Amino acid sequence: MDKINGNLTTSSVSYEDFKANDGKVVSIHGYIHRIREMTGFAFVIIRTATETVQCVYAPEFSDYRWDERLCEEACVRVTGKVVGSLDAKGNERFELQIHGIEILSLPAEGLPIVINKKQLDNIQLNTILDLRPISMRNPKERAIFKLQEGIQRGFREYLISQNFTEIHSPKINFAGAEGGTNVFKLDYFGKQVYLAQSPQLYKQALVGVYERVFEIAPVFRAEHHDTSRHLNEYISMDFEMGFINGFEDIMNMETGALKYIMNLLKTEYKKEVELLRADIPEITDIPAIKFMDAKKIIMEKFKYKPTDMKDFDPEEEQLLGKYAKKEFNSDFIFITHYPSRKRPFYTMDDPSDPEYTLSFDLLFRGLEITSGGQRIHDYNMQVEKMIKCGMNPEEFETYLMLHKYGAPPHGGLGLGLERLTMHLLGCKNVREATMFPRDINRVTP
Ligand code: ATP
Ligand code: MG
Repeated sequence: MDKINGNLTTSSVSYEDFKANDGKVVSIHGYIHRIREMTGFAFVIIRTATETVQCVYAPEFSDYRWDERLCEEACVRVTGKVVGSLDAKGNERFELQIHGIEILSLPAEGLPIVINKKQLDNIQLNTILDLRPISMRNPKERAIFKLQEGIQRGFREYLISQNFTEIHSPKINFAGAEGGTNVFKLDYFGKQVYLAQSPQLYKQALVGVYERVFEIAPVFRAEHHDTSRHLNEYISMDFEMGFINGFEDIMNMETGALKYIMNLLKTEYKKEVELLRADIPEITDIPAIKFMDAKKIIMEKFKYKPTDMKDFDPEEEQLLGKYAKKEFNSDFIFITHYPSRKRPFYTMDDPSDPEYTLSFDLLFRGLEITSGGQRIHDYNMQVEKMIKCGMNPEEFETYLMLHKYGAPPHGGLGLGLERLTMHLLGCKNVREATMFPRDINRVTP
């Protein structure tokens, strides 16, 4: 509470802070979000780092007199008396009766867009993204990324509680983790290197050290198409764990993490959840069905003709989302046992049917947010699989040190932060859930 006592300034004031300081003179700092001039007085809404605070200017409150230079987006320190009242609905609220406004800085120009409404109305996504440093000052835009902080925080807190160690793997690498067409090439003092498309190879190496590791970091994918769910740089929340009994251990760990995250959002990010009307899912147990059974459901129940029997297209993911909701009342569904041909070289094949793998994807409201599974830990098996995939094991000598010198049964996953945020908030485009998106047409701001 002493945060706003006396003349101590703060940028984050809460209802509780005001309640504790009712009747006292305090100072807060922030931006002038809005000025509403009335006859004989004015409302000055101050935007702090966390909320908007109503302040009232009237000559009878003090000797302070209104400064005509005051305008929206001026940075100020406001001193005033905390006064409680009841709003139209009978809820207690607090405002500051202004005793003084110190101008800390004045903007050089007026804003190019209106940001002081509850949300950015009728502004195209591209304009919002072009103007990110200021469009994010809008309370709703700001809340999106505060909530996103909560997701990462939940992931981190939960995994640390489960004895995982946080790691950071290099993003400039000599070999691309999974190969394929979507790696960015980079000239590295005359040598060709790649931007990391996943921390996969390093996570696995560190399972050999810490048993359980996680990383929250950017990864890079040269996506050649402009879609509503692909970025060229996104935040991957990855974990990898050793001494597993099966890939179900990974799915259980993810379920635990998601439960923890949703609970954290509901409790500590309540303000953002309410402002954004985020639909926080109730998670009990997440249903799981096998890949081929999912294909059958798509064809038989939904009469949809898949274009590719080895993977799902976005339409099929949506149908599976509908199925999960209807059949299990779940916003999530695990699809397990993906075909070997579509999974990376480190994926463990199902010993009972090597056409398929001990792997899974997690769909959230009809969108893939995670891929994971058990990895190969046997040296000879891994070398053989690499050769089968047309790779040269010699190029992966350091990666194979794990297998060569002993690795426990292990597995892990990658969860796309922006994709999870996107569907929590019901966004149509992943860019809405990305602070500074990088896509095929955008590298600024
Ligand atoms: P998709 O099939 O949707 O293109 P993927 O199977 O290629 O995705 P993975 O390599 O399995 O992606 O990556 C793991 C997770 O990372 C995905 O489930 C998703 O949440 C996220 N992800 C992958 N690619 C992107 C991207 N380009 N932009 C944003 N998130 C992504
Ligand atoms: Mg995937």
